[in-house]
Amino acid sequence: MRPESVRARGLPETPFETRGSALQWARQSVDRLDARLLLQAVCGADAAALLAYPEAPLSLPETAEFRALVARRAAGEPLAYLTGEAGFYGERLVVSPAVLVPRPETEDLVTWALQLLENCPSPRVADLGTGSGAIALALAGQRSDARLLAVDISADALAVAEQNRERLARSNVELRCDSWLSGYSTDPVFDLIVSNPPYIPALDPHLQGDGVRFEPRGALTDEADGLEAYRALALQAVPRLKLGGWLLVEHGHDQAEAVAALWRDAGLVAVKSRQDLSGNPRMTAGRKALGGGYG
Ligand code: GLN
Repeated sequence: MRPESVRARGLPETPFETRGSALQWARQSVDRLDARLLLQAVCGADAAALLAYPEAPLSLPETAEFRALVARRAAGEPLAYLTGEAGFYGERLVVSPAVLVPRPETEDLVTWALQLLENCPSPRVADLGTGSGAIALALAGQRSDARLLAVDISADALAVAEQNRERLARSNVELRCDSWLSGYSTDPVFDLIVSNPPYIPALDPHLQGDGVRFEPRGALTDEADGLEAYRALALQAVPRLKLGGWLLVEHGHDQAEAVAALWRDAGLVAVKSRQDLSGNPRMTAGRKALGGGYG
């Protein structure tokens, strides 16, 4: 049998001759950038080294690992779970299948949160359903004077958040395992409560979509109409806000009106929504009235 035909059949024991030929092979089943990032992860090389030395050889173990990762990516597994990392708000976060892969639209939620805190010295902030800790850690990094409480009901998710907290050395973030704030003091201490909760309705086909079906279901859906988390937040978060404090959430593209109505029913004022990069209303904030009334 000619060596070419062995290579063509892609037998695992056949090493790629070079990084370049490995990339070429991978591009038949995954996109170019994903192929490059997976090869970087396997070789421990950065993008510059990969581009500069495409003729560098691949070892047998590297070949086997690369083939396996490309096959998993081609089957729809998110790239971040394969490399174990995702970028968020200018930093690298550890991620695993215990947490959602942080989304770009959630970076806009952080930006809005920072704006709401602009005139608030030493703010106290809670991030409910923190997952990887993305929102809490980004806020804590931007506001070193803030104290953050990052809450999740999943101990596995909190273990990932703890790794990120240590990695980014954010000592102003406290982690807590709880169902929203149900076991926490009811004192009104928070200047901002922020959340990106599970909001996809149970029957939404998006849950079976590429990538999403590998993510923790409990972080994506309430197994109901997609609004359960907002009802819980209206009950649990509003009493724990200081007067003038904000409740800010991410939500589905068609949920802005429903969330705004819940916020108003809970007595919040100045209720407003903002769009994501695709122009969908994606997040809504409301404020606990300074006078305590409905003004
Ligand atoms: N925005 C995510 C998605 O569309 C869902 C995030 C969430 O449920 N909090 O997959």
